[in-house]
Amino acid sequence: MTPRVALVTGGSGGIGAATAAALAASGHAVAVGYASRAEAAEKVAAEIGGLAVPVDVTDPASVAAAFTRVEDALGPVAVLVNNAGVTGDGLAMRMGDDQWRRVLATSLDGAFHTIRRALPSMTRQRFGRIVNVGSVAGFSGSAGQANYAAAKAGLVGLTRSIAREMAPRGITCNAVAPGPIATNMTDVLSPERQAEMVAAVPLGRMGRPDEVASVIAFLCSDAAAYVNGAVVPVDGGLGMGH
Ligand code: NDP
Repeated sequence: MTPRVALVTGGSGGIGAATAAALAASGHAVAVGYASRAEAAEKVAAEIGGLAVPVDVTDPASVAAAFTRVEDALGPVAVLVNNAGVTGDGLAMRMGDDQWRRVLATSLDGAFHTIRRALPSMTRQRFGRIVNVGSVAGFSGSAGQANYAAAKAGLVGLTRSIAREMAPRGITCNAVAPGPIATNMTDVLSPERQAEMVAAVPLGRMGRPDEVASVIAFLCSDAAAYVNGAVVPVDGGLGMGH
């Protein structure tokens, strides 16, 4: 594996923290992005010899400042993992504008902001690996998550457009679509809801963050050079490839 500089957004816990660890284990210098959990991100960074960096992906100025900080400390970013995401569940007929916007602003606008900032430097490097963290909800829809499912479906279109646009420059763009993974995001759900989710998974359990991280790390690797525009399910068979 060629060592490179990687930035993982939302690296302060869950799938992002596991991804930062997997990329560090692959030899990369890793910047661990965080929005609110500075202490947790510092701890993740310390464990992997990385750099914790504040970045609110909804804000292009914050994204620009974070990239500059990473470039100054570690060098140009060659690997970008757009993992930051939030939920704001509720039935569509009662969903407020803010509730809709916040979820789209984080998952979808956020990924666009970081990709736009990353591409000129990746172009100069004639190399780039971008991985967006989608969700099974982006394919199947999810009652009570119109905002979240729309954001994650949007990420698929973004992923494939960037994959086409940037392929001639040696930059690939892929996505993963996790099923239910045991993190803060699912911990807040009722035990009944969690049991319902697990019951739909052929493997009969929730996934672990490291089981998503290993797939992301592969997509960021030299070995994945010919994988582009793919959306890889990591869902215990929930969607059987979709
Ligand atoms: P977490 O809640 O642990 O992680 C979410 C991360 O997003 C946090 O690190 C958080 O940072 C960060 N974040 C939130 N808002 C912003 C923002 N405005 N700017 C930058 N970062 C932000 O949950 P997961 O690990 O589960 O989620 C990671 C990704 O995986 C998300 O995109 C989620 O949608 C996706 N996913 C999760 C599934 C699951 O079942 N858990 C299933 C499918 C997809 P901080 O804590 O510092 O505020």
